[in-house]
Amino acid sequence: MPIKTHISGFGKFPSSTTELEDFEMDYPSGDFIFRGNGMSYGDLSFSDKTLSTRKHNQFIELNTTAGYVKVASGMLLLNLIKILFEKGYTLPVLPGTLYITVGGAIASDVHGKNHVQKGSFGHHIIDFNLITENKEALICSSSQNAELFQHTIGGCGLTGFISEATLKIEPLKGNTIHKKSTPINGLSPAIEALQNSNALYKIVWLKNNRQGALLEGDFTDNKTEKISFKQPFTVPYHFGGILTSKPILSFYNQLKFSTSKFEKETAIYPFLCPLDAVQNWNLLYGPKGIIQFQFTVDQTHIEAAINSVFNWVKISQATVFLATIKQFGTRSSFGSMSFPKEGFTFTIDVKYTTGLEKQLQQLADKIIDQYGGRFYLAKDSFLTFGQLSRSYAGFNAFVDFVRNNKQLKSAFSKRTGIHS
Ligand SMILES: Cc1cc2nc3c(=O)[nH]c(=O)nc-3n(C[C@H](O)[C@H](O)[C@H](O)COP(=O)(O)OP(=O)(O)OC[C@H]3O[C@@H](n4cnc5c(N)ncnc54)[C@H](O)[C@@H]3O)c2cc1C
Repeated sequence: MPIKTHISGFGKFPSSTTELEDFEMDYPSGDFIFRGNGMSYGDLSFSDKTLSTRKHNQFIELNTTAGYVKVASGMLLLNLIKILFEKGYTLPVLPGTLYITVGGAIASDVHGKNHVQKGSFGHHIIDFNLITENKEALICSSSQNAELFQHTIGGCGLTGFISEATLKIEPLKGNTIHKKSTPINGLSPAIEALQNSNALYKIVWLKNNRQGALLEGDFTDNKTEKISFKQPFTVPYHFGGILTSKPILSFYNQLKFSTSKFEKETAIYPFLCPLDAVQNWNLLYGPKGIIQFQFTVDQTHIEAAINSVFNWVKISQATVFLATIKQFGTRSSFGSMSFPKEGFTFTIDVKYTTGLEKQLQQLADKIIDQYGGRFYLAKDSFLTFGQLSRSYAGFNAFVDFVRNNKQLKSAFSKRTGIHS
């Protein structure tokens, strides 16, 4: 039974009213889109009608000899990883939160802090089953229904319902991570440090364009430590909005940045997904929410592109909460709308204020046109059709393909003009 409800992504902006219902393998009348766990930041995961995939969460098969796992698409990565870790296996690519579904991981072709060595989620899919808008059930892989496979990986749910997926697994080397933190002064040293690091996992956390820390991690060979998935904190509702107030923000940043170098053995999950330690994290953003955006730029232009963001932050006096830089390796992505491409990727959270999306559109023009950048759709709430077409080589083919659908349209696809 559909319920009319107010809905948003993780960033709480933009939001809309929708009819939300569990997807029972029957498509409704009118415009609809699938929703995994709603952890994308912008407007990918809702439409006039929103079909939750969460009940399709069965564990189907684990084959350690052949090296794959098969699951229904609504299963959370957290639940899948708990099973795999228990058996001594993992997925090669894990993003910064495990509170996402397998379907959402495919539809955004998610990446982790190990892109240089492991590529993105799409590189490790053996196949998936897709149910198209006209109810055809098709197995898709790089050799079967290959065009559909390509448009679905990173395709924002606009090609059909991914019902189940077969994913490659790999042995878990150790039950803990050797973590190293090194203070960084300036953007050039940050880029150089990422480039020179041979660690499996690597990321730079930035406080501004001068101060930050390089965090590196590799599996230890410790097989005895018990792996924990506890969420130690829950945000109480009355704390809503506290994080975007300036005194709390500066206190938070002081906690996050260590001014001295350190190395230690640490638990895997908090290392990979630090924000998962706090349940309802996004309540801290307050009622208006935030816009998080992320772009990738090649090595030549990354410093200038990041500086243009921090200059804009200074001029506009925007409140910024988190900024990171990661490196993308050379493996080209499978999906026509996959985000990763060789270079460096910069992510930043900005407190929402009226008209922010217009300002960010102007900034995006500069990053796309002057620096050859590309923005991540899982975090988009302001890009235009022209900006998408100038930055994604596969965009025109993707648009031609998904425009054949009459109802499968999201708030994102309508806002950007992919659909009318
Ligand atoms: C704290 C945090 C950290 C993050 N870190 C990273 C990171 O490190 N790397 C990264 O790449 N991303 C990251 N993300 C983004 C997140 O991984 C993606 O937005 C992901 O797609 C969310 O998955 P979901 O299941 O919540 O999907 P939703 O947000 O519900 O939906 C996302 C898209 O997937 C489609 N979809 C979902 N299920 C299906 C299905 N079964 N069939 C067809 N389409 C479907 C939806 O239609 C929508 O277009 C992060 C997000 C948060 C909140």
